[in-house]
Amino acid sequence: MGGIYEACASLLRHISSDCGLCGGRARGGALCPPCQGSVTYSMRHGGARCGRCGLALGGLAVCPDCSLRPPAFERVIAAFDYAYPGDVLIHHLKAGRRYASAGMLAGLLHAAVRAAEPPLPDDTLLLPVPSSRAAVLQRGFNPAAEVARALARRLQLEYRPGLVLRRREGRRQAHLSRADRLRSVHALYHCPQPLQGAKVAVVDDVLTTGSTLHGMAAALKEAGAATVTGLVLARTPYSAHR
Ligand SMILES: [Zn+2]
Ligand SMILES: [Zn+2]
Repeated sequence: MGGIYEACASLLRHISSDCGLCGGRARGGALCPPCQGSVTYSMRHGGARCGRCGLALGGLAVCPDCSLRPPAFERVIAAFDYAYPGDVLIHHLKAGRRYASAGMLAGLLHAAVRAAEPPLPDDTLLLPVPSSRAAVLQRGFNPAAEVARALARRLQLEYRPGLVLRRREGRRQAHLSRADRLRSVHALYHCPQPLQGAKVAVVDDVLTTGSTLHGMAAALKEAGAATVTGLVLARTPYSAHR
């Protein structure tokens, strides 16, 4: 199965297509090399980051979030920063250009995961952050799930979308402080089955305060998970998330 998928995937990578950002020539649905370079530039040249939440520290000695209140997850791997031009790709994904966007974005996240040290273990279970019923009704799909499914195939990891469930609709988070967000997500997610010693990776589109990933990780740890890694397309820079 994996062999056939790999053979098809490597064929598709050579077919010419339009770059999802500039519309120029690209291959296999990916961005053209210059656009890929500019989307991921700050990940390579943006300076030191928090080893836990992936926040670009911008000269700070310690992470202002994790040092104050350590989250329940161990680390975050992000494909790019949530800033121009990467933010445009997130808008495309959420606006419904999912068939063109999800595979390409999974490709960018795949490259970030492959480059991460230490590597993600082969027996990692992968799942998306479940979206609220309201969000699915509005968009007709869960953007994180579209990316997670494609990423699981590329990484050949077990895809387990039902591992964590949402208990109830959460309050809208936009005007809550970070501390209030952490409290409001605490009881939002639960894991109905024991996960003794499992290594789990949670896929989300954007990591802002980290409160959603923290809530997911807390539920997974309560069920016995050993480690929880966040795999996110975009990490919001410090200045934008206060
Ligand atoms: Zn381009
Ligand atoms: Zn941090």
